[in-house]
Amino acid sequence: MLEAILTQMATEKPRDKCGLFGVYSQNLHAARIVHPGLFALQHRGQESSGIVACDSNHFNAHRGMGLMTKVYAEKDIEDLTGHFAIGHNRYSTSKRSTIDHAQPIISDSNSLVLAHNGNLPNTLALKEFLQKKGEFCEGHNDSELMTDTIDHYVKRGAGVEEAIIEAYPLLHGAFSLLILTPDKLIAVRDSNGIRPLSMGKLDGATLFSSETCAFDTTQAEYSSDVRPGEMVILSESGQSRHQIATGRQKFDLFEFIYFSRPDSYLLGQSVYSIRYRMGQELWQENPVKADLVIGVPDSAIPAALGFAAASGISYGEGLTKNRYIHRTFIQPEQRLRERGVAMKLNVLKEQVRGKRLVLIDDSIVRGNTVGSLLKRLRDAGATEVHVRISSPPYLYPDLCGVDTPEQSGLIAARMKISEIKDYIGADSLGYLSLSGTIKATGLPEDCFYTGPFTGDYPFDIGEAAKNIKRVTLD
Ligand code: AMP
Repeated sequence: MLEAILTQMATEKPRDKCGLFGVYSQNLHAARIVHPGLFALQHRGQESSGIVACDSNHFNAHRGMGLMTKVYAEKDIEDLTGHFAIGHNRYSTSKRSTIDHAQPIISDSNSLVLAHNGNLPNTLALKEFLQKKGEFCEGHNDSELMTDTIDHYVKRGAGVEEAIIEAYPLLHGAFSLLILTPDKLIAVRDSNGIRPLSMGKLDGATLFSSETCAFDTTQAEYSSDVRPGEMVILSESGQSRHQIATGRQKFDLFEFIYFSRPDSYLLGQSVYSIRYRMGQELWQENPVKADLVIGVPDSAIPAALGFAAASGISYGEGLTKNRYIHRTFIQPEQRLRERGVAMKLNVLKEQVRGKRLVLIDDSIVRGNTVGSLLKRLRDAGATEVHVRISSPPYLYPDLCGVDTPEQSGLIAARMKISEIKDYIGADSLGYLSLSGTIKATGLPEDCFYTGPFTGDYPFDIGEAAKNIKRVTLD
């Protein structure tokens, strides 16, 4: 039964794809740095992990399914010899989660290795290109189609940098890439810079990471971000940076709301501080009388603290999280759904009994988490539960690297806010507005990708557009 729950949960939860870490050095055992770097990025992908290192023109690879503790033994890291290496933690957003799709991907010609964070919702141009060349492989996902296309040009004699430039116009979507060749490490970001990718320094080596928190873990120093539309090349002759497409920053707002670790800095801003300010804004927009503010661990805690500070209502722990359950789960049946959330989060009964609570979460996607928690908080004796969400209603599928359910599975796309309140059993429900969310970041609105809240995608989403309907909020 437990196995069934875990499997089902793993396949139906909205997911974030993926974590990247890379090292280019002249003399270090690069995999020894990539390994702890990936550990710091485990939250970005838990389905598979892989590292490929390059040693004297030879690629050494190790990949496996599951959490990093399961994938790597000491001997595996020791065998990944080479001074430059890239690693990847995966959450699948397209195609099934099997070892065949684990990354990094070694190209057919064995001349490059690619790791991808993001999603290409529209792969038509890539497919047509490869079909025309007679090189289309049925069953290949977006990351594999990208690898095949770059490899196509390499096989015809182009250098990998030229091949990337040739393939770039065929890539429609979100992609932060690390590409390893026998003598280079190359980083590329899509022209909207939707997913993060930062650079750091350590003992003469250059590092790349999806999030800056991994530089702290590896005792490296952050140096800069790879810019939207930029290609950074590291080789024996040093570092060169090339703007290969016009960049216009459209960073995924949800990285600030939920995905990234609170100790990371995105666009130069502390994720923790921004979540705290989202909580403060949430109080300004949705005040309520209550005795205690509690947050859903871990991602909503900074917003709960901000809400409590702004309101003057005490903050307390009302929920405790089992840190050894790494996947949250969504079940087809309500009973199983409740059990899934109960396995992960439990109520601290003494804390909540007889109290009027404000329950803060960072988002409602399907409504399972908050619905299940409400019931158990009431069972534990809370007299009122007011739900406050530190982001706007989630109305549209993400398409840029988060495997959200179809739009029909998003509760805010189906119900009015007053209906959601009744459905989850809250005394009141308030969301942070989009302008309040943006205000908390301290950054201009036009530097964000806000698709899940607005349905505005910064590129042609192709066929996916057919399944999206406009939603007006009540
Ligand atoms: P749901 O239970 O479907 O409403 O999902 C919302 C809950 O899952 C909230 O507690 C969020 O913190 C969390 N969440 C939001 N987005 C994601 C995601 N992409 N992957 C995993 N959890 C998420």
